[in-house]
Amino acid sequence: MEPIVISTWQHGLEANEEAYRNLNENANSLDSVERGLTVTENNPEVHSVGYGGLPDNEGRVTLDAALMDWKARIGSVIGIEHIKNPIRLARVILEDTEHTILSGDGAFTFAIRNGFEPELLLTEYSLKKYLEWKSQGSGKAEERHTDRDTFNDYHDTIGMIAMDKFGNITSGCTTSGLAWKLHGRVGDSPIIGAGLYNDAAVGAAASTGRGEECIRACGSFYIVEMMRQGLSPTEACRRACERVYKLNLLSSKNRDHKYQVGFIAMNISGEVGAFSIRSGFQYAVMKNNINTLFDSEFLIDEKYIIEDL
Ligand code: ASP
Repeated sequence: MEPIVISTWQHGLEANEEAYRNLNENANSLDSVERGLTVTENNPEVHSVGYGGLPDNEGRVTLDAALMDWKARIGSVIGIEHIKNPIRLARVILEDTEHTILSGDGAFTFAIRNGFEPELLLTEYSLKKYLEWKSQGSGKAEERHTDRDTFNDYHDTIGMIAMDKFGNITSGCTTSGLAWKLHGRVGDSPIIGAGLYNDAAVGAAASTGRGEECIRACGSFYIVEMMRQGLSPTEACRRACERVYKLNLLSSKNRDHKYQVGFIAMNISGEVGAFSIRSGFQYAVMKNNINTLFDSEFLIDEKYIIEDL
């Protein structure tokens, strides 16, 4: 098969390069996704993933990451601190334990026992941003990951799906979650079926955006099931966005509705697609040695105000 990799957002371009280089050298999709996502985790300029990710409301950088491969093997890490590459830890859980998910202190202890070094993940920039937020006196977790200022840019989890030369697909996600989130809050990224899902007979999906909405919809699982019924990856992602949208309306009477959710998907023929709730979601696809950033199609426009309905 021709290798192919798709990932979320502009920083997906850099991660794709690494994943694709591995795929081209005959690495399997699990190795390739892990290595690709590590690039984003190590980049302090990405303020929503790994080192340099914005902290929670207590100023603590807590990371979530997960992998699921074509053998339905799962490794997921929730709310880990001081470990720069939670995606590597997810890989260890996937391969070397009988478990699927480790969280918090237990995940940290497991990491140290497996040779990971504890590190400070707060950078000068992320500390400055945290202190600014703190000085505003707001107690509310913000739907914000970066210092850019439209809500389209606030969601920057990297989700990645790759197919190797053997036709095997792996999906993965890694994130620092919503900036200033309540300490202990878990988003969609480490939740199997929400942040990512994989089925060797069908394909895989991954998500980014406000995790609460994706969890409600079991977004990635839903996309895989839609593809099983014969929908294209893009159409399946569109259906998942409609589901997210409907369940948000049903559930969110007194909430802020200005959220973004974006999905990417790949089927076992190597076709890819994406869709988002609002405009602004971008995804990167690399195949035939060409890495391209695309604007996703979306459901509702930026001027849409739910209260006007
Ligand atoms: N999905 C992530 C979360 O809810 C956030 C994001 O993609 O920006 O934790």
